[in-house]
Amino acid sequence: MIDALALDLEYTLIYNVDRPIPRPYLYEFLDFCFSNIPHVVLFTGIRNHVAMEVLYNLGRRRHIPIEASNMHVIRWNRVIRGEWQKKDLKYVQQVHLGARLDHIYLVDDIEEFVLPSQRNQWIRIDPFRIQGDDVLKNTDNELVRIQHILEEKLKKSIFD
Ligand SMILES: [Mg+2]
Repeated sequence: MIDALALDLEYTLIYNVDRPIPRPYLYEFLDFCFSNIPHVVLFTGIRNHVAMEVLYNLGRRRHIPIEASNMHVIRWNRVIRGEWQKKDLKYVQQVHLGARLDHIYLVDDIEEFVLPSQRNQWIRIDPFRIQGDDVLKNTDNELVRIQHILEEKLKKSIFD
């Protein structure tokens, strides 16, 4: 069962905010997520208005479905009072109160941001790297692989 899914932005869905190149299969991946998972949010260290602008532009160019361009953005503060923070999924639960904390998953490329107690809710994705400027040569299919992992978790949910 997946109650909610938190998605990282940079090097997970796009290259980065300075070069917001959509990762291959991004539209299909987000379409799948929004069709099958009750709550999908962006969980990023990028400031909200910048992240929302990236989503808006991706949607305008039809790189992501319309509902994804309106997705909720949860700002993650990397450092609070001088202390490095983890991407605690309780912040997702605070937005979606019906979601059970241990049924919230995170797709992210950086292990050190994952809270140790939530490690088995972390779905590791290889960072999106582009080779020069030629995106067409890119053979990255990580989002297809992650979609299959999510499909398996959703299938299992029937027997939970
Ligand atoms: Mg990232």
